[in-house]
Amino acid sequence: MATPPGLLVDTRGRPLRDLRISVTDRCNFRCSYCMPKETFGQDYPYLAHSALLTFEEITRLARQFVLQGVQKLRLTGGEPLLRKNIETLITQLSALRTPGGKALDLTLTTNGSLLQRKAQLLKAAGLQRVTVSLDGLDDAVFRSMNDVDFPVADVLAGLQAACDAGLGPIKINMVVKRGTNDQEILPMARHFRGSGMVLRFIEYMDVGATNGWRMNEVLPSAEVVRRIHSEMPLVPLEASAPGETAERWGYADGNGRHDVAAGEIGVISSVTQAFCGTCNRARLSTEGQLFLCLFASRGYDLKTLLRNTASDDQLASALAYIWQARNDRYSELRSLQPQDSAESSARRVEMSYIGG
Ligand code: SAM
Ligand code: SF4
Ligand code: SF4
Repeated sequence: MATPPGLLVDTRGRPLRDLRISVTDRCNFRCSYCMPKETFGQDYPYLAHSALLTFEEITRLARQFVLQGVQKLRLTGGEPLLRKNIETLITQLSALRTPGGKALDLTLTTNGSLLQRKAQLLKAAGLQRVTVSLDGLDDAVFRSMNDVDFPVADVLAGLQAACDAGLGPIKINMVVKRGTNDQEILPMARHFRGSGMVLRFIEYMDVGATNGWRMNEVLPSAEVVRRIHSEMPLVPLEASAPGETAERWGYADGNGRHDVAAGEIGVISSVTQAFCGTCNRARLSTEGQLFLCLFASRGYDLKTLLRNTASDDQLASALAYIWQARNDRYSELRSLQPQDSAESSARRVEMSYIGG
């Protein structure tokens, strides 16, 4: 293979830096924007256990991705904490090093429901930090967003457990749906200001084919910033890393400078401001399909390669070949041709399968 390790770029000059690994397609929540009950009911055909990549297979693939330039691994799902013995996988992944000998940024996105039970175990296994999804503080709003009547107090207790275990800096992801939970923006901002946790507002996306997405339910990030700024003044901050999805805003002090103790928020404007130009993320589905974009309708079957006894060199060549041909930029194209969902979403994979 001609490309030296870590220098792989796609057809748009984007390097491969971030790998999101979905460890299960199952979840104990039914957020309507992700796994609506009407589709994900009792009879939904989840993957059989034999179809899932084993921890050894995931680790072997992750090692090859790291050799190709990946510096950050994020475990996701479905709900990743539902995968049995997930801490064993974390132990294996935390032993990986970049070609330069550096530890990876190893993190996990969770709905927080099992954090109280698992935070210490995760930390001991080598997980560095967590991102917790939380769509509101009002119990009734939260129970209706998760659609399984799960109480917000239990997620807040999970957050506390993650803090106590040292799984920080913790990020909180709030998906904002206009008319459903946008009244929670200010209470959430007040609650997490000065907490050391970074609250990030995500525009409701047209991912998957089942959530019935409509543009008029998207509350643009600019409006989120405007609402918070009108009560708690904000100042723009520099991006923390190239390819970072969130635009950062710091809480201002009386002199209009960033008050570091008060902290910051982030906004992820996946719909109103495409960030495909710097997108350095690949996604590995629960059954070992490699997806090059959240909105892709097909993946590349790495599991068959693995199970057909491909050598490490063959795996490396396959990854290089696939990434070098990548041309995906769905959000950019969507912003050029805005349209409502139905037609274009027909064949897209679900977020619970591909990983957020
Ligand atoms: N179950 C875990 C959780 O909820 O954090 C991990 C998987 S979830 C698919 C990953 C992230 O995707 C969550 O923060 C979730 O809020 C976000 N997400 C799911 N569907 C979305 C949508 N339609 N638009 C925007 N974000 C979405
Ligand atoms: Fe489950 Fe996360 Fe999807 Fe909600 S967003 S249904 S918690 S996978
Ligand atoms: Fe990356 Fe695809 Fe999202 Fe663009 S639409 S930022 S290419 S995942």
